[in-house]
Amino acid sequence: MSVREEFDEWAAAGRDQGMEERHWNTARYALSAMPVEAGDTVVDLGSGSGYAARALREAADADRAIGVDGAPAMVASARSSTDDPAVEFVVGDFHHLPLPTDAIDHAFSMEAFYYAADPEAALAELARILRPGGTFYCAVNYWTENHYSARWQDAIDVLMTRWSEAEYRQRFEEAGFSVAGQLRIPDTETEIPPASAFPTDDFDSREAMVERYREFGTLLTVGVVP
Ligand code: SAH
Repeated sequence: MSVREEFDEWAAAGRDQGMEERHWNTARYALSAMPVEAGDTVVDLGSGSGYAARALREAADADRAIGVDGAPAMVASARSSTDDPAVEFVVGDFHHLPLPTDAIDHAFSMEAFYYAADPEAALAELARILRPGGTFYCAVNYWTENHYSARWQDAIDVLMTRWSEAEYRQRFEEAGFSVAGQLRIPDTETEIPPASAFPTDDFDSREAMVERYREFGTLLTVGVVP
């Protein structure tokens, strides 16, 4: 299935809103760490419901926030979430971003990058649109060390790339980024039921759920264009 088919279906089912709720717990820490200044132009790669572009505009005072997503229904949903003319959502593919070279100050992506059919090419495309000194804040829950996400591919028809923490650093460097940092952002808000509620469909024990959310959380890799 193509990205467009898969995620148009998700949007039609309202799953963009559900992802916003789940991802906001950790995405907001990554967003607030971005060195965005007034006047900047920022991009959200795989923008879904559009929350990150709205936040970068409202809280970080970006001059222009552009969400790029390959699913037209996601873009339509994101557009309906704001009437701020400085927040735009465009249909586009990670491998051919509809943006000029050196035009973007900072880029963000949450739970989207690993759907790129060719993630190395997607990184090279990001390095193209970012100005020297520009940053890419890449947040994922699907990576090797987070073994709780190991079987996610079974439920999704788009091919996903599962890199380790070291592979994220290495691939960023091969694409021309310096890696400014990498960390796991814990999700301190998702409610964890008492031990008596386990096993659940997702977790064998309370300890496992604690590890998944409070310890693994979300992997953030920060690349800087030299
Ligand atoms: N960032 C949002 C949405 C995550 S879902 C959030 O945190 O909730 C992943 C999104 O990335 C989907 O909306 C999907 O359409 C988009 N996407 C995946 N692969 C893509 C590609 N190759 N090009 C453009 N968009 C893509």
